[in-house]
Amino acid sequence: MLPYGRQSIAEDDVRAVTEVLRGDWLTTGPAVDLFEAELARWTGGVPCVAVTSGTAALHVAYVAAGVGPGDEVITSPLTFVATAATAALRGARVVFADVQPDTGNLDPDAAAALVTGRTRAITAVDYAGHPADYDELRAVTDRCGAVLIGDAAHSIGSAYKDRPVGALADLTTFSFFPTKTVTTAEGGAVAAVDPGRFATAARFRNHGLVRDPAEQRDPEHGGWHQEVHDFGLNYRLPDVLCALGASQLRRLGRFRARRAELVARYNALLAGLPGLTLPAQRTYTAPSWHLYPLRIGDGRRREVYERMRAAGIGVQVNYLPAYWHPVFEDLGYRRGLCPAAEAYYAEQLSLPLYPDLTDAEQGWVVECLAAILT
Ligand SMILES: *Cc1c(COP(=O)(O)O)cnc(C)c1O
Repeated sequence: MLPYGRQSIAEDDVRAVTEVLRGDWLTTGPAVDLFEAELARWTGGVPCVAVTSGTAALHVAYVAAGVGPGDEVITSPLTFVATAATAALRGARVVFADVQPDTGNLDPDAAAALVTGRTRAITAVDYAGHPADYDELRAVTDRCGAVLIGDAAHSIGSAYKDRPVGALADLTTFSFFPTKTVTTAEGGAVAAVDPGRFATAARFRNHGLVRDPAEQRDPEHGGWHQEVHDFGLNYRLPDVLCALGASQLRRLGRFRARRAELVARYNALLAGLPGLTLPAQRTYTAPSWHLYPLRIGDGRRREVYERMRAAGIGVQVNYLPAYWHPVFEDLGYRRGLCPAAEAYYAEQLSLPLYPDLTDAEQGWVVECLAAILT
């Protein structure tokens, strides 16, 4: 089965990992610092904290944003459930705002209309790798004093008005799951513009431990002493995986270019087929495409999904509107809440997209789709 996304592993990656395995540190060592420094080169210098997954990154971002019980977090429903679940786990109420019908990204006007005195954060999702409209979202958070968070699980390396993802929101989260553009097997990171939020994120990742005597409440114990002021978790990304990430980042430019080439080819090859809506792109963005999010009209999405899968092409649907998950239904969220996101979901189908997909394989995907549609 041709997958909808997969990792691209080179000999350099294997070498980077085995070097760490033969060395002194398996967990927290020099590769963590190296990976974080390399990541910051892609975020316009905004410092990054590596963590164990994109989900952990979101959890940490909500902690760093001060999200807690009684707060509201406005976000898009057209995302993986973790964007909303992690806010709910902090005790916040998740408020779903609708998406722009063409990009599938959080609609700044819809978000603005849902702001209340309790809005603590607004979390945009760079759907498929296409950056959200950050200037408009920033205007909303400026007005209400909320923290702007970017779930950039799809969009590492993307740019918006010549500014890189990672430098657009107050806190930006990345995922390094194998289907994502850069992988560490499991992994994630948080980029934090504000030094205080950065320190909170770094500390939460490591149980909340305070090691610097200057910051300790009771530094007189001795050199071994460390203390906890706020609870944290173990979200440390091991050296082995950071070495893989640093090695992968060296090829991010090439990954971006190949993904862009494949997207341009899909756009050209699919242009004449009936019932399709091709992905939209704003002129002021340079997406690092993670997904190729096609829309299949005429009520045929399910049929196309099943026939493509039967042919051995692993198409995917991204995503079930987050509040359709029973956990949100049980909290009182109802269908119909975000009509544009629901309409998007009803037609969406992700075609295979990853750097090692060959032109011939892509041609076969297009032929299969054409045979079904015509
Ligand atoms: C993949 C993904 C996540 C979660 O990342 P994991 O590394 O799988 O935990 C969060 N948000 C979005 C939009 C994603 O695609």
